[in-house]
Formats: sequence, C-alpha cells, structure tokens
Amino acid sequence: MKKVNYTKNIDVKYEVDVLVAGGGPSGVAAAIVAAREGAKVRIVEAGSCLGGLGTAGLVPAFMQFSDGVNFLAGGFGKELLDRCKKENGVYKNGSSIRVEELKFIYENMVAESGVEFTYHTKLIDVIKSGREVTLGICAAKSGVYAIAAKTFIDCTGDADLCHLAGAETSFGDEDGNTMPGTLCSLWSNVDWEVVRSPEGVHPDNKRIEEAFADGVFTNEDRHLPGMWHVSPTMGGGNIGHTFGVNGCDEVSLTEAYVWGRKSIREYERYYKEYMRGFENMELAATAPLLGIRETRRVHCDYMLTFKDFRPDSVFDDEIGRYSYPIDIHISNPDKESYHQYLDDFSKRLGKGESYGIPYRCLIPKDLDNVWVAGRCIGTDREMQASIRVMPGCYITGQAAGMAAALSLSTGGNSRKVEIPVLQSKLKSIGAFLPNS
Ligand SMILES: Cc1cc2nc3c(=O)[nH]c(=O)nc-3n(C[C@H](O)[C@H](O)[C@H](O)COP(=O)(O)OP(=O)(O)OC[C@H]3O[C@@H](n4cnc5c(N)ncnc54)[C@H](O)[C@@H]3O)c2cc1C
Repeated sequence: MKKVNYTKNIDVKYEVDVLVAGGGPSGVAAAIVAAREGAKVRIVEAGSCLGGLGTAGLVPAFMQFSDGVNFLAGGFGKELLDRCKKENGVYKNGSSIRVEELKFIYENMVAESGVEFTYHTKLIDVIKSGREVTLGICAAKSGVYAIAAKTFIDCTGDADLCHLAGAETSFGDEDGNTMPGTLCSLWSNVDWEVVRSPEGVHPDNKRIEEAFADGVFTNEDRHLPGMWHVSPTMGGGNIGHTFGVNGCDEVSLTEAYVWGRKSIREYERYYKEYMRGFENMELAATAPLLGIRETRRVHCDYMLTFKDFRPDSVFDDEIGRYSYPIDIHISNPDKESYHQYLDDFSKRLGKGESYGIPYRCLIPKDLDNVWVAGRCIGTDREMQASIRVMPGCYITGQAAGMAAALSLSTGGNSRKVEIPVLQSKLKSIGAFLPNS
C-alpha cells in the first residue's frame, strides 16, 4: 500500500486530570466516581449517547447485579439500578432496559457529577512520554485536536487507547476466533400476554430445528438468546449472530451490519410463523451500534483466568467480586459449537458465591498512568465471557475511576495507589469487598 507522511499542528483543546475514552457502562462509572473525588474529568465518546452497548447497542437487559445473596455491583451499579427503578430506566421485571430513559439517566448522572463530555469524538491516537500517555488525539466533528491529561482510562470496549499506546493485547482464541456479534433490535406490537401464556412457545429456540428443516434460516444457529419484554408491547431482540466479525475492522463491521439487518428478516419470519404472540410484530429499529462481545483483551499486571472462577478466589488487592457464568457465544453455527456453549454456560457459581477481581487486572503491564475497565480488562477468554456484562463493567469502571482520582496525589502512577486506601474508599461508596 502507498504511504503518505501526514503532519499537522493541532490544538490542545482541553487539559484534565482524567481522560476517559468511551462512555459505555464502564466509562460512565469510571468518570462519575473520579469526578466525585474532585478530579477534573472528561469523557470522549465516539457515538451519540452514553451507555455504549446498553443503549446505542440496544442490548435489552442488565444481567445479574447480585449472587443471589450479596449485591456484587455495590456502589455505582446499585445507584444506577436504583435510579433506573425510580426513573423508568428498567421495565417492571427490574432488568429489561427502557433504552431512551437509560440514555437520559446516564446523561443526568454524568452532568450532576461535573464530568464534561462530547459525542462524535473518537480517540484516534495518543502521544506518550516513556511508559506514560500524555495526550489523547481525538477526531471530532470540529476536526482533530489533542486533550492533555494526567491519567487515562480505556473504556472503549476494544482497548483502543491501550492498543494505540502500544500495550500488548490478545484477540479472541489461539486462532483469533472471537465470539460473534449481534445486531440487537426493537420490535413493536408484541402480545406479551400470549407469549407468557401456556400457549406461548418457550424457550425462543424451541422450534428452531423445524424452521431449519423448512429453510427459514441461512445458518443453523441454535443459539438464540431471544426477545426481552421491554415495554407493554415492545420486544428487545438479542437475536441472530454476525459470525466472524472483527470489531476492530470497519470492513468486517460493515459486512456484519449488512448481514445483521438481512438475518433479522429471517428471525422475523421465525417469530411470526413458529412462535405465539409475535404474529403482528413490526421492526421498530436495529441498533446504531453493532453488539460486539469480544475483541482485544489487555495484558495487565494480573490476568484473571478460569482457575479464578471459584468462590475461594480472594485477592489482597481485590476491588470487587462477580459471579455471572461463562457465557461464550458460539464462533460457528453448528451443533458441536452449540453444545460447547451449553457446557460452558453450565459452569456456574452457587447462590452467594462469587470470584474476586484484583486491581492488577485494570493495570496494563506496559503503561504507568493508564487503567482499563469494562469488557477488555486483563482476563482470559472464559473470564471475559463472565465479567463483560454490564454489572461487571460497573465494578471495574468504578474501581478504575477511584484509583485514577487517588493516583493524582502521587503523580498519576497506577502502581503507587495504596491498596488499603483504594479499598476503603471503594467500600465507602458501597462496593462489595467482604475480604478487605
Ligand atoms: C449482543 C450483546 C448482548 C449482550 N447482552 C447483555 C445483557 O443482556 N446484559 C448485560 O449486562 N450485558 C450484556 N452484554 C454485554 C455488555 O453490554 C457489554 O459487554 C458492555 O456494555 C461493555 O461495556 P464497556 O463499557 O466495556 O463497553 P461498551 O458498552 O462497548 O461501550 C464502549 C463505548 O466506547 C465508545 N468508543 C469505542 N471506541 C472509542 C474510541 N476510540 N473513542 C471514543 N469512544 C469510543 C463506544 O461508542 C461505546 O459507547 C451484551 C453484549 C452484546 C454484544
């Protein structure tokens, strides 16, 4: 490919204590917690709302906040959920997301905490001095500019900031295969009384083999998370998979959006003809942001692995505990992969059980003033498939935000944060830390 040398002087438009790249669940948690500690915080968000996949991605529900006994996402997660319950951000079952309300709640919480943010602002590069990032380079609607910050938190989901800063990352399994994406969708005119009645068809994939035999689907994808009850008459669809998508490549992403919109027509036929209560449903929207489950995982000071998925995994530098099962979506639409998924998903902790999350999983091993939070922290694939759900992202986001704020008194170095101080500050805002 031809190369061109591109050099330009750009403005340093803002100077902050903490720059958060990405305004999804982890980014919002990190930014708010840091700002409440007195830090000057700015979020740069590539899209047009806060909430990431839980809003722009139309992910229809929050997964578990608790282990059935303990509220694991204590602190920011609890505050957010309580606020959603009070302000209509969740439907009456308490976990299905009312997406427009959730966007509004995030914007209000961020504004109340004093965090500044802009949409249409993508982090596209960084400038470093040794092991420290000093400037984030952003492409915004107004042009390209720099933001100077003492500390940086990578909440892009794809570890864009760490990758741009040269930190080591892994991608998918040993062959580079990743979980598929899903283009989530919203449907109107669902008759939930019929769906919930004895004549309804449960689970959603119950008649999928018949539909395969009838030629409804291009792929024999047995893995169908299904349709969530998100309002009196609407369904939130986590239906269909975009196999082989690379969430860090726009060509692959474009193909996945196109396939996602096409495959949704196949699911529309399936729901209308093989299920009950969906006969009159209409497609209201496909998500503006493709649901990407897995891309890069940052190599951190500690890599959480499946051997840590047990109730007695306790760490001296624990910043939280979580318990969602190992939810590795199938890489290929075949029976063998589906059975592997069922096997993985059956690996569960019991009621009241959870695994510890060490602070070191948030510290990229190659960088000194950068934290990572959300779905790309330092884990293996199995643990990523547990901790990536939104309550897990609130836990790691709030810890990264708190640590970044605390680090400011010692020059912004992630490894100089005193663990007992971090833990006691996290506890004071409600974090679940029974071992510290
Ligand atoms: C199809 C699907 C279904 C799911 N279902 C559930 C579920 O039912 N319940 C649940 O709890 N979780 C679910 N999850 C998981 C969960 O939604 C995500 O893992 C979680 O949202 C990740 O949070 P995050 O903050 O790490 O990143 P994201 O939610 O991905 O947010 C990242 C944000 O950063 C922005 N961004 C990215 N790159 C840049 C950049 N370079 N510069 C600036 N901004 C950038 C993006 O626009 C986005 O807003 C699902 C995920 C998928 C894909």
